[in-house]
Amino acid sequence: MSKIATAKQREVQRIVDALSIAIAQHRLKPGMRLVEAQIVEVLQANRNHVQAALQRMALQHIVTIEPNRGAMVAQPEAREAREVFIARRAIESAIVACITPENMAQYQSEFSAQQQAERVASEQEDRRDIVRELSQFHLLLANVSGNKVLSEILSNLMVRSSLIVALYQRNDIPSCQCAEHAAIITALKAGDSALAQSIMIAHLNELEQQLDLADAAPDQLNLRQALLTS
Ligand SMILES: [Zn+2]
Repeated sequence: MSKIATAKQREVQRIVDALSIAIAQHRLKPGMRLVEAQIVEVLQANRNHVQAALQRMALQHIVTIEPNRGAMVAQPEAREAREVFIARRAIESAIVACITPENMAQYQSEFSAQQQAERVASEQEDRRDIVRELSQFHLLLANVSGNKVLSEILSNLMVRSSLIVALYQRNDIPSCQCAEHAAIITALKAGDSALAQSIMIAHLNELEQQLDLADAAPDQLNLRQALLTS
């Protein structure tokens, strides 16, 4: 019995992950309709599992389910966007405060690989890669902190941030800057937690200032295409 439940949970998680990644990489845009039958076909999934995944994502404010219209990718309002950034400042400040120079030494190779990936993505100017790599840095810090509760909260905030960036980013400039990430790494390696926290908060303020929280114009894209392109 519990094995069956676990298999179902894994499958629902697989669908949640596929949709979340597509949202984080801006392949699935805010307001796009999530047609169950198409998800079933493209992800080779069971309809009940797709419904469970969409319901879970609705609870996470990543998907909106409307009676008679079905599910669509959420379109966070400007107020919610500001609240997500307030939450990110609190959570990411706490994450940075948990990280010691010993943690940094332990994850040395992951940080080197991350910085290399950010540089390559920026040089190649592939917006999707840039968005993915720059978000990855924030998730890596959460992982390094070793605090699973903070990590879980941040994972949700990062997907919601992707929706917010897709809706409100003023221009095509990538939302994070590698140099600011490097400064955070340097401060953490030196054990200067207060400095790392203040750079992180300034970095998140900078990201918020790149948003135009006055208007939103969701694009219409094809769901099938968005899920097939990876
Ligand atoms: Zn960043």
